[in-house]
Amino acid sequence: MSITLERITKRYNGQPVVNDVSLEVSEGEFFVLLGPSGSGKSTLLRAIAGLSDIDGGSIALHGQDVTQVGARERGVGFVFQNYALFRHLTVAENIEFALRVRRVKAAERRARRKELLKLVALEGFDGRLPGQLSGGQQQRVAVARALAHRPPVLLLDEPFGALDAKIREELRRTIRTVQRELGITTVLVTHDQEEAFAMAD
Ligand code: ADP
Repeated sequence: MSITLERITKRYNGQPVVNDVSLEVSEGEFFVLLGPSGSGKSTLLRAIAGLSDIDGGSIALHGQDVTQVGARERGVGFVFQNYALFRHLTVAENIEFALRVRRVKAAERRARRKELLKLVALEGFDGRLPGQLSGGQQQRVAVARALAHRPPVLLLDEPFGALDAKIREELRRTIRTVQRELGITTVLVTHDQEEAFAMAD
């Protein structure tokens, strides 16, 4: 199993928002968590990434228990609804960010960046700032950035939320293509039933 959650519970102010949830995601699977707003989907996703702590249960990635492991060491790729790109950094700098943090050499960073921009169909956009891109393009950069350090799993939290219908469709296809090409285990969170059925394995 690529992701194993066992009896995860998370409370806010004593109230459980995730209550005794267990699930397994296979290697290379595109898994979708579907539910209404406020049902605890993001909380669960953030728990997998190590971005929020849990009150009970355990989390394993590729068979390794990471319940007590910090977000940085889990190294999970994460894409949020609202782009969350660094506004003052170029596309190239955004994508290379996780590699720079990990002290990857410049030549290797550059090669990886070129590869990723090709993957998300944004070749030649290296020098742009996020403000000079459309919403859909920004989300594709966010996907490339999340994948840069070859994370063990990719987590997508309503990544299409802020986009109009046509761009959504395009980005869905890009994400699906990228996911298949890399064979990366992916969990997508959405409240949109149509989207869930369009994307999930
Ligand atoms: P979803 O992603 O399904 O919309 P969330 O996981 O974001 O749901 O939220 C689940 C519940 O937890 C909601 O009722 C929300 O208000 C609550 N919640 C989320 N984050 C916090 C927080 N930091 N403090 C208190 N309550 C929170």
